Amino acid sequence: MGRMSARNGENAIHDIIPPEIHGIDEDRLNASAISIMQTLNEAGFEAYLVGGGVRDFLLGNTPKDFDVATNATPEEICGLFRRARVVGRRFQIVHVRMGPEVFEVTTFRAPHQNDSNDAEARQDANGMLTRDNVYGGTVVDDAQRRDFTLNALYYNHKDRCVYDFCGAWQDAKAKQLRIIGEPSTRYREDPVRMLRAIRFLGKLPLTIDPATEAPIFELGHLLREVSSSRLFDEVLKLLQAGHGADTFELSWEYGLHQILFPEASQVLEANTESTYWDLIEQALENTDARLKSGRTVNPAFLYACLLWPAAHQRFQQLLADGVSAPDAMRKAGAITIDANSATVAIPRRFAQVTREIWELQLRLPNTQTRRALAMLRQPRFRAAYDFLLLREHSKEIPSGLGQWWTEFQAAHPDVKPEREQPNDRPRRRRRPFRK
Ligand code: ATP
Ligand code: MG
Repeated sequence: MGRMSARNGENAIHDIIPPEIHGIDEDRLNASAISIMQTLNEAGFEAYLVGGGVRDFLLGNTPKDFDVATNATPEEICGLFRRARVVGRRFQIVHVRMGPEVFEVTTFRAPHQNDSNDAEARQDANGMLTRDNVYGGTVVDDAQRRDFTLNALYYNHKDRCVYDFCGAWQDAKAKQLRIIGEPSTRYREDPVRMLRAIRFLGKLPLTIDPATEAPIFELGHLLREVSSSRLFDEVLKLLQAGHGADTFELSWEYGLHQILFPEASQVLEANTESTYWDLIEQALENTDARLKSGRTVNPAFLYACLLWPAAHQRFQQLLADGVSAPDAMRKAGAITIDANSATVAIPRRFAQVTREIWELQLRLPNTQTRRALAMLRQPRFRAAYDFLLLREHSKEIPSGLGQWWTEFQAAHPDVKPEREQPNDRPRRRRRPFRK
């Protein structure tokens, strides 16, 4: 038997999985991550690779980032690496830069005492952890406060073994997503764990343990208590990370999309035949395809699609009330984005672009040559054109105009969008022309 089990304390089972069983080959792991662990080990600290870097590897996916857990404190970590800095408040971690890459190094947390007066660990009335920075725990404690068992497999560079403190190895073999501890308590501590569950189900070949699944249907509303800027980031990780189309469907099934985007969801819900469904699905499929072929994606465009059901309905209502089309679109855009910021707040630099994409929809039908050429020079033309194609594809509007713009662009390949002036920086004055 190549696997050792040991009991430590009351009921913490340690499974130590040796290399010949877990099959993780260090040569295929990130060399910088290994060197970080080595540096920590040489300074006398424990260090493990944990989280997505181990999980994705074991499930046959390519890990996208590497997280290291250690008993060194943030200050001690910063003392060991030249390019290290502490980030985060609610949950402090250290970012260590190695070449172009950034690694997240976290200190083992001690179990919290449920003491709401503790300055380093706080919980609100819903049981939500608003701070979790009590250091001094062991790796076993550290495992207990992670979210899912698959995210709590610890790879130790020193002996090349994987350490499991919560039955994670069994779950990895069964390809099962299971939350650590009592599910509702863990979701209450941090409702974002529900979104993380959906994200992992969308991107990995996993099934979800029934006890982990059930509370999500009941507790989704707790996401309303999470900061709207954190939710902005989480939505991008959900929908703009390569598996957006599948993940959208899941988050709808679990009722989470409806919490994050209440107005737009109401419009979708009211009409299962609505063209907006197609628009969003097609947008997410295009995004997945773009990422797969190494192209970039734009959060402003994603939000233009996600919020379009609400913005477009509002626009039509304002038109019906006698407001002029440009004013109606401006207002509809502003109100829709503002209303949604109660749950998901789009940072201004993206929200501005989202609104421009919508507003340009009114100018695209103007195909007079001079206007059309000016449109091609518009920095947002490309996004507005892509959006128009989606509206046509979903049959929200009749097709034809998109084709016209496709041909017009082909006929004017030299007309390029103008570079944007960053408007937050003062424009440099032109040097006076001297003879
Ligand atoms: P990804 O591949 O998307 O990076 P990940 O699981 O590594 O997935 P991270 O956000 O990088 O996700 O987090 C690293 C690890 O930190 C997780 O694997 C998990 O163990 C722990 N973690 C992250 N977020 C939470 C959370 N909200 N609650 C508990 N543990 C968390
Ligand atoms: Mg990670």
